[in-house]
Amino acid sequence: MEKKQNLLHTQKKKVKKPSDPCIVCDKELYLDEEYSKRAGLLDDNEECIGWVCPYCNSEFDFKNRLTYIMPMDVCRGIT
Ligand SMILES: [Zn+2]
Repeated sequence: MEKKQNLLHTQKKKVKKPSDPCIVCDKELYLDEEYSKRAGLLDDNEECIGWVCPYCNSEFDFKNRLTYIMPMDVCRGIT
């Protein structure tokens, strides 16, 4: 009986917390159900071809494959 109550409790409480971290810098990119913090990446014809992480500027295509990673040496050079 107690087990059953616990189960109901967890099910009720179970609000799926979405998580959508950047695979490069591990920052949370989830914003809400419709939007993420990903910045759209456009080609020369202004067609959306992928997205950019706003935190580390790494570029991805729509299959979340990394297409460009900001070289760490550049960051060190600036600072
Ligand atoms: Zn990132």
